[in-house]
Amino acid sequence: MDKEEFRRFGYEFVDWIADYMSEVAEYPVMSQVKPGDIKERIPSGPPLKGEPMEKIFEDFKKIILPGITHWQHPSWFAYFPANNSPPSILAELLTAGIGAQCMIWQTSPAAAELEEVVLEWLRKMLGLPEGMTGVIQDTASTATLCALLTAREKATDFEANLKGLKKPLIVYASEETHSSIEKGVKIAGYGKESLRYIPTDNAFAMIPSRLEEAIVQDREKGLSPACVIATLGTTSSTAIDPLDAIGKICSKYGLWLHVDAAYAGTAAILPEKRAMLEGAEYMDSFVFNPHKWMLTNFDCSAYFVRDPGTLIRTFEIHPEYLKTGVDAQVKNFRDWGIQLGRRFRALKLWFVIRSYGVEGLRKMVSEHIRLAQTFRGWVEDHESFELLAPVNLSVVCFRLNDGRPEEALDSLNRRFLEGLNKTGKVFLTQTTLKGKYAVRMAIGQGTTEKRHVGGAWDLIVEKAKEAF
Ligand SMILES: *Cc1c(COP(=O)(O)O)cnc(C)c1O
Repeated sequence: MDKEEFRRFGYEFVDWIADYMSEVAEYPVMSQVKPGDIKERIPSGPPLKGEPMEKIFEDFKKIILPGITHWQHPSWFAYFPANNSPPSILAELLTAGIGAQCMIWQTSPAAAELEEVVLEWLRKMLGLPEGMTGVIQDTASTATLCALLTAREKATDFEANLKGLKKPLIVYASEETHSSIEKGVKIAGYGKESLRYIPTDNAFAMIPSRLEEAIVQDREKGLSPACVIATLGTTSSTAIDPLDAIGKICSKYGLWLHVDAAYAGTAAILPEKRAMLEGAEYMDSFVFNPHKWMLTNFDCSAYFVRDPGTLIRTFEIHPEYLKTGVDAQVKNFRDWGIQLGRRFRALKLWFVIRSYGVEGLRKMVSEHIRLAQTFRGWVEDHESFELLAPVNLSVVCFRLNDGRPEEALDSLNRRFLEGLNKTGKVFLTQTTLKGKYAVRMAIGQGTTEKRHVGGAWDLIVEKAKEAF
């Protein structure tokens, strides 16, 4: 492709994206295709000769677009959001254009230094303890894996290991913890049987006394408690584990404290939501995802550590071919995580924060929280619906309940949610809370307004009648 053709399609694609953003509400939120539909329409082998971009772009519109689920739809209420924004898209375009691989400082000093600065901005925006240092990871799953690997490194007694006196290391998280914790525990070699799920209270938050009991029991058994993962904003119901109480226990028994705030971390940019960070001084590591609720394209996960030295000792490598003359003066982020090669992810964060300002981001987040409270009110005031969890942030967990037995309620709600999503006008997903099937209304798309939440509620009421 020559420069003029690139320019022409570049303009055309930006025009297409701009139109897409303004028309996305007209698409069905969830893709309506059936399994295999897309594969069937793509040749099973690659073309031998190059094809014109016109034709490739036509196929994008004709074949690919129908198979897209529209995460940027204003009536996106499923899972958690993964919102983007015009400044983030523009930065991604520049990142792709530059095409730099930013594994060490020398391979793009601006990428390394901007990452350092922007993460310090984020630390201040969230009110995280001074001295915590940040690095961008691809996802919260990876950040949590880094925390588990670092905790393992710290807790492993090398001498005992050599003598074959190795004690199993134990990890603790609440029974509401995200599945990435189990995955991390498996990958890091603790073994699934070394993960303890601590019971939660009526608000689905970890019960600190039960955590302490589990640690004491494991110590008595000769095991070695190593790491606690507290969640701020659980995936099912956005429950907030009591950080201060958990932190005190970690400090008493010498355990690593990792905090998973993948979704809820963004809310800490609101001073009135900082109470959940009480006890932050006990954290060894903390992760939140600007790619969820902060207008920054997937992927971009912010990982903060109290002591970068321990993190670097876990991951550093010094092959001759990667040595440079400035290694002593700079941060080489290849040593701050699992991968060697790194995308230039700081650029989109920088664009987003500068373009909206802290005030603009606060306005969006507080509006989503306000809309969720309005929605909660509607659920509570309606005789056919039941609220299933406290609404801490912007997720409302609810179900239809007409008094029939629990099992029948599950299938009623499953049928109701299916009917609702089939309309293509909204997309909500489900979870279970203390064994009950719950519908989740997660508000957080950047373009969601009151009329979208109101429209969803009207549709919910209508579809509920049909489900009975
Ligand atoms: C979304 C989520 C994750 C996983 O995030 P990824 O960035 O997709 O790995 C982990 N923990 C919690 C609490 C989450 O909500």
